[in-house]
Amino acid sequence: MSAPHRYTIWPSEPAAHLFEVRLTVTDPDPAGQVFALPTWIPGSYMIRDYAKHIVAARAESDGRDVVLNKLDKTRWQAGPVTRELTLVLEIFAYDDSVRGAHLDLTHAFFNGTCMFPVVIGQEDAACELDIRPPEKPVGRHWRVATSMRRKEAPEYGFGSYVADDYAELIDHPVEIGELSIGEFEAGGVPHAIAIRGNTRVDMARLCHDLQAICEQHMSLLGVPDDLDRYLFLLNAPGNGYGGLEHRWSSANVCSRDNLPARGDEGVSDEYRTFLGLVSHEYFHLWNVKRMKPAVFTPYDLSQESHTSLLWVFEGITSYYDDLALVRSGMIEAGSYLDLLGQTITRVLRSGGRRRQSVAESSFDAWTKFYKQDANAANAIVSYYAKGALIAASLDLKLRSETDARVSLDDVMRAAWQRWGQTGEGMPEDGLEKIAAEVSGLDLEDFFDATVRGTGELPLETLLNAHGINYCLRRSSGGKDKGGKPKSESDLPDVWLGAALGDREGKPVFQTVHNGGPAELAGIAPGDELVALDGLRISAAGAEARTRRYHPGDRSEVTVFRGDELMTLRMRWAKAPADTCYLEIDGEATDEQVAKRGSWLHQE
Ligand SMILES: [Zn+2]
Repeated sequence: MSAPHRYTIWPSEPAAHLFEVRLTVTDPDPAGQVFALPTWIPGSYMIRDYAKHIVAARAESDGRDVVLNKLDKTRWQAGPVTRELTLVLEIFAYDDSVRGAHLDLTHAFFNGTCMFPVVIGQEDAACELDIRPPEKPVGRHWRVATSMRRKEAPEYGFGSYVADDYAELIDHPVEIGELSIGEFEAGGVPHAIAIRGNTRVDMARLCHDLQAICEQHMSLLGVPDDLDRYLFLLNAPGNGYGGLEHRWSSANVCSRDNLPARGDEGVSDEYRTFLGLVSHEYFHLWNVKRMKPAVFTPYDLSQESHTSLLWVFEGITSYYDDLALVRSGMIEAGSYLDLLGQTITRVLRSGGRRRQSVAESSFDAWTKFYKQDANAANAIVSYYAKGALIAASLDLKLRSETDARVSLDDVMRAAWQRWGQTGEGMPEDGLEKIAAEVSGLDLEDFFDATVRGTGELPLETLLNAHGINYCLRRSSGGKDKGGKPKSESDLPDVWLGAALGDREGKPVFQTVHNGGPAELAGIAPGDELVALDGLRISAAGAEARTRRYHPGDRSEVTVFRGDELMTLRMRWAKAPADTCYLEIDGEATDEQVAKRGSWLHQE
């Protein structure tokens, strides 16, 4: 067992967004120690090459400089030394996302993947991290929030922290600043939320609601043996949305106005979005952080790791995130059905579901889902959205075909026992096999069609069997996400077959759907819409204008492509019924009502 690696991080120049990171290795490789920084962060499947933010790197031993050679974009090798070796890095941090590192005069945030090199050959050694405060007067009221275990540091304070190995070291993001902190218990485990930003949030209510969601998830899969603490980090700026999961914490971003203020009652759509986000990241502490694909055990952070299972780890998580809100009583069944209707709408509007399976979408996440080009809506399907609908279909199918004896809950419990509690990776065919095993059903056709193929999901029939009506209508416009009915008079007859965006107040074609009127007319993504039938058009007025047309009408569309003005002839087509909403069936039989109640925990 090698001696612990000693890391130190210091916000050396907050105004210049620079951290100084030191790493001391007691027994470096006598042939010349190699260090590397990860190229990606677990949970976000894109090569980010964190080493590109290193401004300066040097090494020293026994008070003398040691030569440090760069081997490639992400690795260094120090000259041979016989005593302990220290690597000193200066790192620029100005990426204010949950995947990066950020430092200014108001706060510091970092993921270990951006800051801490791994000692090649000694990855299993314990790590100590000394988190040092900036020079006064910066940071006078700063506190430290991280799920890393404290060694010599006061609670929420600067000082030393420890991790069992490098993989754990980089699994604890750290937020440092003026924080609002709330604490609560869920399932007997201490939990906390640390919020950055001036939110004026009702902290007592927030903790109460988080507890209900956490305990709902705990009741499904049980409390993992090593879950002795959990921390939600939350950055709440004016605008933003996202999250990244870790084993003992998650880093989240939401708009400050999404959080409940004192005196607010009920769950607004915005607060529901926030609850769905934290529910999602929390479910990941089982599904992807402890139970994971075999190729992630261990993670190879030097290059892409392909798996066809992201639909299991993101899609099933996306299914249970909203389901936990209704099952815990946080939202009503009707509100849950709005959310499910919105997910169905997202998938229906993506023509790419006919071209790419979720298994392929998972495998190619690195270069397609995370690097979407202008054709993405036609070529790819989201393993989040369609994955969530496969999970819903599988759940309802198991319930229907086993007389409610078996559900996806049972499959997930069995999967958790086999791969989560053992730490063995899930093989590529793991979920399918265990679902068949637990239910006794032959599910090969279902997985062939929905996971490996591009078949449509049998949701309408399955929802009907659970006392829910599946309804389709046309879209009312760009802001219509689906989930709710609308009166026929609010729905335009025709569509462009394209999504219009706004570029400096001017309407610009973004997505152009294959086979739609815009594409057939020769319109391309990025074209600026100048005039429709000789009349100038603004981004704000474009939608109202299209309502004056009917299927079969012809128009002259004038666009700028770059600096070239073009006039194209377009024939309007009937808008597709691509927008879904779900309704409780008022005429459902007692049996259907019972099935629905058992699914949504409404009995
Ligand atoms: Zn996720």
